Amino acid sequence: MAKKQFKAESKRLMDLMINSIYTHKEIFLRELISNASDAEDKLAYKSLTDDSVDVKRKDLKITIVPDKEMRTLTVSDNGVGMTKEELESNLGTIAHSGSRQFKQDLQEGDKAADKVDVIGQFGVGFYSAFMVSDSVTVISRAWGSDEAWMWQSSGVDGYTLTSCEKEAPGTDVIMHLKADADGEDYGKYLETYKLQELIKKYSDYIRYPIVMEVEDYRQKEKPADAGDDYKPEWETVKEWKTINSMVPLWQRQKSKVKPEEYNAFYKEKFSDWQDPLAVIHTSAEGAVTYKAMLYIPSQTPYDFYTREYEKGLQLYSSGVLIMDKCADLLPDHFRFVRGVVDSADFSLNISREVLQHTRQLKTIAANLEKKIKSELLKMQKDDREKYEKFWKAFGTQIKYGVVSEYGQHKELLKDLLLFWSSKENANTTLAAYKDRMPEDQPYYYYACGESVEKIAKLPQVERILDKGYEILYCTEDVDDFVMRALEELDGKKVKSVNDEDALPQSDEEKKQAEEKAEAAKGVLEAVKEALGDQVHAVRTSSILKSAACCLTADGPVSLEMEKYMRRVDGDRGMKAQRVLELNPDSAPYAAVKKALDAGGKDTVAKYARLLYGQALLLADLPLEDPAGFAQLVCSLMV
Ligand code: ADP
Repeated sequence: MAKKQFKAESKRLMDLMINSIYTHKEIFLRELISNASDAEDKLAYKSLTDDSVDVKRKDLKITIVPDKEMRTLTVSDNGVGMTKEELESNLGTIAHSGSRQFKQDLQEGDKAADKVDVIGQFGVGFYSAFMVSDSVTVISRAWGSDEAWMWQSSGVDGYTLTSCEKEAPGTDVIMHLKADADGEDYGKYLETYKLQELIKKYSDYIRYPIVMEVEDYRQKEKPADAGDDYKPEWETVKEWKTINSMVPLWQRQKSKVKPEEYNAFYKEKFSDWQDPLAVIHTSAEGAVTYKAMLYIPSQTPYDFYTREYEKGLQLYSSGVLIMDKCADLLPDHFRFVRGVVDSADFSLNISREVLQHTRQLKTIAANLEKKIKSELLKMQKDDREKYEKFWKAFGTQIKYGVVSEYGQHKELLKDLLLFWSSKENANTTLAAYKDRMPEDQPYYYYACGESVEKIAKLPQVERILDKGYEILYCTEDVDDFVMRALEELDGKKVKSVNDEDALPQSDEEKKQAEEKAEAAKGVLEAVKEALGDQVHAVRTSSILKSAACCLTADGPVSLEMEKYMRRVDGDRGMKAQRVLELNPDSAPYAAVKKALDAGGKDTVAKYARLLYGQALLLADLPLEDPAGFAQLVCSLMV
């Protein structure tokens, strides 16, 4: 019998698909099962509108049969089936729905290589069977017809159509699997464990049962006359089992889902052994229609802060997985969220590029971002302990969110921030800080350091605390950047306690400070001379109360930034312009002055090194010459 030729485009498409090197061959099963499910849908619909069709919804099913001897895999359905004409027009050409986009892509340019990934991700329906098969046989009998037809093809060179027998309406797709070659193992598609895995992965929520005969290894029943020395015997039994769970949890009514069910789903699906902190089950109808089920994990995934971690939500279209990690559904600051989104607004075969630019996807992403934020705020308000746990796991990510992209997300994220409060001795939100703020407090204050204990002892912290003002103690690398990004909250500046003008001065105080600086000129110059290039400047301090000295920085690079750079880049990193600040009212200062007045240049130099060393230690910066410093301290004791 003469072979019929595929339409030109179909031929090109098949060529491309069969010959492209490509990692997602396994999606062929998803494609065939979806087709079968559509066929069941069509029949179920027919039965609603046509009295002559009497099928029961419960009888509709999809059957998977691997045959190792024949090396075939069969996907059968008892759906609408196809007439001869339908077989010809549906499988002989690709002018139909799902493949249209792909066809369009092909016409737009010849960048075949670019397209490989597109097929890889989404498949193009029925033709994907050829990725794993040498030839495919389709036997179909349309509902209401008593003749059956067999369509056969081994790929690009065309297909045949012959009349045949089939007992009941529906379609069998029989794939003659390719021989294993070049490291490609096609035989695995005959293994029930592999098929089960693929069905679970891609088609778990198909609404019809997907049944397969599986082997079960189990204990034989104990015979009634078994003696005391009876040893249990095991046997292998074959039985038909429904592999898919059919109803997706997210399609069910929120009020009908138990917390354990939410948690079990999460743990199984996202391979976590701990319950999530929260679940957000939400849906929308209207401009876009979707259901979403999102989870906030309770611990940081081990690879969360590495490149390996991939953010994204699973995207389903009416229960069929179309993308495992759709990154565009989640903003970076919420990349810890796991979950699924199901929307019939996306077609099965939509390409990644097209999907990315759809209005629907953007709308869903924007809605979900709001939902996640409000869920977190709710947790912060109602279950603070839980929120602290969340913060411990993902707070750093939220902080990075505040600083990234030029601070454009800071408005959204600032309510979620927690910092250590000097007053509460616990974490506080910025809102709670504001509520406690005395009326005369001019700024929001923060201080950076290695630990809360160390910060609390910083000399420059004292004068702010003495005023009765609260300070946010910042112990993470990113904190200084966060505070700078926040800049201002409700019209009040965010100030580091290191800032000279952290406490506004009255004209009188200013004048006094200037006079003190003038009077100290000689000492300052002598100290600067002794320290040379180690410091950018030496000044009298207006930020110290009882302590003798501290280190601050001029210019755009703060000491915190320098420290951060040191950790990341070692000694090569950016350096701050160090300023040694001296308290002219302190006894050590008086000692320097006395030495200077007595003409003891050497002593002044020693004192200068001593003060600078202390300032470095207080600022958590390394001494350049620790041994020399130790000697210096000892020499002053004798
Ligand atoms: P798509 O499913 O995206 O339209 P396919 O290439 O997978 O593209 O299938 C082409 C057409 O063939 C389908 O639209 C459908 O009409 C028909 N078809 C495929 N498989 C079956 C089946 N198992 N039962 C009935 N019709 C089918």
